[in-house]
Amino acid sequence: MIVTIDGPAGAGKSTVARKLAERLGFSYLDTGAMYRALTWLAMREGLPLGESDALGDLARRNPVTFDEVGRVFISNTDVTSAIRHSRIDRMVPVVARHHEVREVMRERQRELGHQGNVVIEGRDIGTVVAPDAEVKVYLHADPEIRAARRQAERPDIGGDALATDLRIRDASDRVRMQPAEDAALIDTTDLEVDDVVSRIEELIRSRSLATS
Ligand code: C5P
Repeated sequence: MIVTIDGPAGAGKSTVARKLAERLGFSYLDTGAMYRALTWLAMREGLPLGESDALGDLARRNPVTFDEVGRVFISNTDVTSAIRHSRIDRMVPVVARHHEVREVMRERQRELGHQGNVVIEGRDIGTVVAPDAEVKVYLHADPEIRAARRQAERPDIGGDALATDLRIRDASDRVRMQPAEDAALIDTTDLEVDDVVSRIEELIRSRSLATS
């Protein structure tokens, strides 16, 4: 079974997806980490971020991998914490918007996603990467709450700058950030992580019953 969790930054995707996967005994795939790792590598190599072909080629030659505890690797380097910085937050959409990059990433995501039961989080998972997924969820929340949540994870940047970055990133990502028509929309503004996870578990149960 594939469960997709899409939505904007700070809506709670990673925390919810990780916990859900743990409870269900599913594997977990963080597609944002893949775009982040590629951005990190492109910046390290000094590659101009407007060059579609070169970025697509870089992505093809350097597949992102995950180990069993969720660490992220690219080009033989553990980038797990390096990709969680505001300078990467800012540049990822610039890299992720290239069609050449997305083609490589999506192909790899489909490969990784078809190895058994999995929870996949991202922006375009329910719409493009896994349109046939059995359960699709789209998380959203008020912008102030999303900025506050992200702030707790980004000590390297002040609140105002972070809120501005988030707005700019939303605008760049918007074209890829539409919920799938058959996705369940959950507003996480006033919900605890466990409540969101329980709602999705309930959804999975009802979908499984409906198809059994
Ligand atoms: O989810 P996360 O905030 O880690 O994603 C980082 C960035 O990667 C997003 O802002 C977006 O530009 C890009 N992304 C994407 N498609 C996905 C996942 C992430 O374009 N499926």
